[in-house]
Formats: sequence, structure tokens, C-alpha cells
Amino acid sequence: MSDVLFYLGLDDTDAPEGMCTTWLGTLLAQTLQKSGMRVLESRLVRLNPTIPYKTRGNAAICLQIKGDPAYAFMVACEMVSSHAVLSCQNTHPGIVVSLRKPPSDFYLKAVTDICSIEEAKRIISEYALYHQEYKLGRGLIGATAAICSEFSDFTWEFLAYRKRDRFLVPRIFDADSFFLSEELTSPKTWDTWDYDEARPVCIPHSPDPVLYGIRGDSPFSVAHAASVINSEPYDLFHIWKTNQGTDAHLVLFTGDNLHEGVSYFMKGTVLEDPVTKEGGHVSFRLQVESSTILCMAFEPTKKFRDYVRLLRKGDVILAAGSFLRDTLNLEKFFLYSAEPYAIKKVPVCPVCNKRMTSAGSGKGYKCRSCGHRERTYENEYQDRAISQGWYEVPPGSRRHLSRPLKRGFVSPDL
Ligand code: ATP
Repeated sequence: MSDVLFYLGLDDTDAPEGMCTTWLGTLLAQTLQKSGMRVLESRLVRLNPTIPYKTRGNAAICLQIKGDPAYAFMVACEMVSSHAVLSCQNTHPGIVVSLRKPPSDFYLKAVTDICSIEEAKRIISEYALYHQEYKLGRGLIGATAAICSEFSDFTWEFLAYRKRDRFLVPRIFDADSFFLSEELTSPKTWDTWDYDEARPVCIPHSPDPVLYGIRGDSPFSVAHAASVINSEPYDLFHIWKTNQGTDAHLVLFTGDNLHEGVSYFMKGTVLEDPVTKEGGHVSFRLQVESSTILCMAFEPTKKFRDYVRLLRKGDVILAAGSFLRDTLNLEKFFLYSAEPYAIKKVPVCPVCNKRMTSAGSGKGYKCRSCGHRERTYENEYQDRAISQGWYEVPPGSRRHLSRPLKRGFVSPDL
């Protein structure tokens, strides 16, 4: 058996009714390790969260291995053939094995934009030793992006996987142990417990192999947090290095790079007080450079909408979110300054100290008692119920790639 360093990328093996590419990656890593190979690094690579083909969170994986690439490729192909949900019309797996790490450009495009299978194949023909596609082979995009990935920032996730005979039945767990886990390890871990909703948020609801996932800043933190969890026994676990929680999907909007399906940071001025629409969605328009962007905080973002409602016309914010259907779907915003808000009021008569009345359209105001006239309204300044700072959606509605504020305050130098 040869003993070389290589990268194995894998994607698009699952379906809404089951399976998970990270579970298959875990099984593969363990099988290869049992055969004497060494898995040096396991990456869970989240890609563009707006991709319509995604099953759930648009994840691909990359294993960095020391061992025999031909044997690993053969085992990966066997596992995909036997476990991928090939009957699902939206499942199109791809496997890529390469001895060299291709440049990160393709990963950067795949996490922020839309890629084609042809682009992935161009990289494969230049760099890959082996590749295998199934059905449409769309998974080659994620598999190639995963082996191209370079993380300027990264986090970790402890994923616990259920016993195979329990993939389809409800998960058994002690909710309080998730609360305890977050209490003991926060802020080194995050998004285990939702304090507003008083429930764990790291447990999927779908019928797939994942029992729970603990996110944090190091392998030790996530393992420590997982050791506190009380649940049905897990069959396998794996600690993944990941681009989750890093904002890797966000690009800076510069005024002329607005595209559907891309996620942005946008600095702009709030054009009107936000309004709550049918369904509880909150919206306002933002002036960014010469563009007017409709921003929305959707109902599932819950309490976040209360902060959005406190914005006022004239506020300058840095908004972050995905641009979909001509709307920026807000994930978080930074309010640069909460200036007291001016409300136009009918003036008070300086002589009688009584509220004046309108003297007719465009004619200013008149005091009914003494006849005193004022040309314009007066401003009453109201203190704001919101202060300068970042505001984010709750854990339950956070995108996998969004950087939680718990990871530390990043001052926007924009
Ligand atoms: P899970 O989270 O359970 O792994 P998923 O949400 O990752 O599922 P997939 O079944 O992997 O969803 O489907 C995503 C598909 O989109 C894959 O075929 C992947 O190659 C492709 N894809 C990922 N990013 C892009 C992109 N930027 N442009 C075009 N296609 C992409």
C-alpha cells in the first residue's frame, strides 16, 4: 500500500428523507484508518447557502489523508454506491481525489457565488488523480470546492451520529443537558441552546444520521461540551474543522456587484422607519451608494425583528444577508450611531404655552388664543431604545456560515 499525502472530496450523497454527507465522510475516515491510513484533517465545508439544489445546509467534506489514494478512492466509491440516496432525483454525488491542493479560487467562488460542473471539471482535469460522478455529477462542484478550500478563519463541530436502526425514529435526549453544556462551555461553544425559546438548537428535526452537533472554537471545547450531553447513545462521532460561523459567504457590496444568490455586507442609510407586514415579516429600504435595497427580517428570525423595528429613517447601518428575489434577507446588522430621533410636532405658543393649530396648508401654525404665528413645526427629540452595536438573528434561524457575535465583536471598519 502506498503512503502519500492526498485530498479526498465528497458531496451530494443525501436526500431530505435521509443520509448525510458528513456521516458518510465519518464512516469513510474510520474505515480508512482501520486499514492503516492516517486521516490528518477532516473538513466540513459549507458552500453558498442560497444554492437551490441544496438538501439542507449545502455541506461538502474534504479528508486530508496519508495512505493509498487508489484504495481510498475505491472504498469511497463503494460507500457512495451503497449509502447515497441515488433514488432521490436531487442527489448527484461526486468524489474527487487529488495529490495536490488546487488554488482556493474555486472554493471562494463556490462559497460566495454559483459555479458550474464544467468549471469543476476543468480543475479536476488539471489536478485530480481520480474522480467519480453519479447521475448528473453535480456533487463534483462541492467535492472540488472542498479540496480547494483554504480557511482564513475556522471553527470546529463535534457531530454525533445515531445508530443505523434509529435513523428514522424520534431522537431521545435530555434537553436540560444541552442547557448545561452551553452554560459550562460558552462562549467557547455556541448555538447549542436557544435562551429565548428555551430549547436545544443543535438537534436536527430531519430523519438523518445526525444526533446533534456542538459548535465551538476548538476540538477541546466541542468535545468538552459534548461530554455533558445526556441522550440516546451515539454510534459514531467526528470532530470537523469547518468554515461555519466565519461569514465566509459574505462579500462587500460596492455599488455595482449586486447579484441574485450572493450574500453581502452593505453599508447604507435607512430610508424609512421599518414596517411589519403580513406574516410578521419586517422590512425597510436601505440606500447603498446609488442603489435602493429592500431589507427583510423574516418571521422565523423572531426577536431579531424587534431590533430591526427600532431602526429609524436616517440611521446608518452595516447590513449582512443573502440577496434573494430582489431582497436582502437580514442575518445581522451593525448600527453605527443611535442619534436621538426627531418627531415633527405642532409647535407650542411661546406666549400662551398652548399647543397651536394649523393655519392652513403651507401657512404654518397659529395660536387660537393670542393669534401668534409660527412658520414651521418643532422637532421633539426622542431617546432611542437601541444603541450602537451589532444585532443578530437567534441561533435557531442562523445560517451555518454566519459568524455569531459570541465569537467576538468585529468592528466594521467601513
Ligand atoms: P447536507 O447539508 O445534508 O450535506 P446539502 O445541503 O449539502 O446536504 P447537497 O445534497 O450536497 O446539499 O446539494 C448541494 C449541491 O449543490 C451539490 O451538488 C453541490 O455540489 C452543489 N453546489 C454547492 N455549492 C455550489 C455552488 N456555489 N454553485 C453551484 N452548485 C453548488
